[in-house]
Amino acid sequence: MPDTLNIQNIDFQKTLDAKVLCEGIGLHSGCKIRMQILPAKPNQGIIFIREDVANSQKIYASYKNVSDTKLGTTIANKAGYKVRTIEHLMAAFMGLKIDNAIVILSGNEVPIMDGSSKVFVGLINEVGIREQFVKRKVIKVLREIAVYDGKSSIIATPSNDFTINYKIDFEDPAIGIQKQKFSILGSNFDKEISTARTFGMLKEVEYMHKNGLALGGSIENAIVVDNGKVLNPGGLRFKDEFVRHKILDLCGDIYLSGKHFLGNISAVCAGHEINNKFLWKLFSDKNNFQEIEAYNLISMEEVTSAVA
Ligand SMILES: [Zn+2]
Repeated sequence: MPDTLNIQNIDFQKTLDAKVLCEGIGLHSGCKIRMQILPAKPNQGIIFIREDVANSQKIYASYKNVSDTKLGTTIANKAGYKVRTIEHLMAAFMGLKIDNAIVILSGNEVPIMDGSSKVFVGLINEVGIREQFVKRKVIKVLREIAVYDGKSSIIATPSNDFTINYKIDFEDPAIGIQKQKFSILGSNFDKEISTARTFGMLKEVEYMHKNGLALGGSIENAIVVDNGKVLNPGGLRFKDEFVRHKILDLCGDIYLSGKHFLGNISAVCAGHEINNKFLWKLFSDKNNFQEIEAYNLISMEEVTSAVA
């Protein structure tokens, strides 16, 4: 698909057409959480509100507000109020090209649902998506940005598309080495990426439960593997569901840039921590990126193709 078509998809800002309601358990607490997603005005971005605490104020979905990256991405506001496990919902917003939304939670976590973005994508598609006729700004990578941490790395290079090329390498042969590449703008996010579930090793899950961590984590909301076997009775949704989920996580974390994204990303054995480091590095130097209106880019592409 030519780049110009992809760019046209991200022209105007979008929000949900109506309120969405959803209930599920928190991965960390194991407690029931109610979540409402409301339409928001243009240029608002994604805002979280905790209704379980008085005056919790807004918690903006920004890489600058990331306070913890263990077992998921947590954001916090200046008053110290947190929202955990936001990445699968953020990935749904990015994949559906939603710019503005208000997320109201009855607890400190986004419900884990089935461990993917499937439920969020389904609910939003059910009520529909509204164009807001305000031009969308997009972050365009202007030069190579690389972050490394042990065997993990993320390298971004300039592009007029948003692609993710991902490689994982796990000891357990049920996962092993997996590679996958998608154009996030050109792919069928709903079908190819949004349904890929999070995963863990049985030993890790048992250890975490003993230590009061991931109390809500189970075979209902994660793929659990043990010595070359997938323990979920229904098996996998894709042969390479693991690497697809890592792509989903990266989409959610990258969307904490607050804008949609143009660049090719190559990720190796990455995770929430390095995903966040990448955004800090990207935004640390104004020569690394440019904020452009999708409209300008279409014109630029048309000029380029006309010249060619
Ligand atoms: Zn995840």
